[in-house]
Amino acid sequence: FLGRRKQQKWLICRVWRHVLHKGDIVIDATCGNGYDTVAMLKMVADESGHGRVYGMDIQTEALENTSSLLDETVTQKEKELVKLFPICHSRMDEVLPENTAVRLVAFNLGYLPGGDKGIITTLKTTLLALEASKKMLILGGLISLVVYVGHPGGREELETVEAFASGLCVDGWICCKFQMLNRPLAPVLVFIFKR
Ligand code: SAM
Repeated sequence: FLGRRKQQKWLICRVWRHVLHKGDIVIDATCGNGYDTVAMLKMVADESGHGRVYGMDIQTEALENTSSLLDETVTQKEKELVKLFPICHSRMDEVLPENTAVRLVAFNLGYLPGGDKGIITTLKTTLLALEASKKMLILGGLISLVVYVGHPGGREELETVEAFASGLCVDGWICCKFQMLNRPLAPVLVFIFKR
């Protein structure tokens, strides 16, 4: 039996694993405490030093936490495959080399657990980041989002994400969401697959 949070994490990792290959390039658009960065790195890092995780967060505290978690959980060689940037994810295209083939862009929206709850993702920059992700993703790639609805602005952010996904053409994209029906405040998972 998995705890509530772990059930969703388990599902997300299953979906990521289904999409990712060793050597892939992925983006963690909201590094936070680094758990997603580490999970993605483990899936893409290969023996010969291929695979890359580009991570970003607007808080240096979050990037420091991510860096510390990497030190504790991965080898130095694996850590070298991670590039961290103290920027808003709406600017992701500025830090990745041109024409980088990205297989996964992962968002875990909201605030830094254990940090300042006033510093949260916002509709406007989330939408800009989704537009940037859409352009960078390769065929067969995935935009994955965890959207929290329990804090002020969370529901509106979910509506923005849903409107973005609903507007994508059916020939090019498969968009779906996973929602806990008996837990209305549980985060909603949104998966946007590029066909
Ligand atoms: N994925 C993280 C993990 O595994 O620990 C948790 C992410 S946390 C829920 C959300 C993070 O998004 C916070 O660290 C926050 O600073 C960051 N954030 C908020 N607005 C952002 C933005 N515009 N660009 C990048 N990161 C942002």
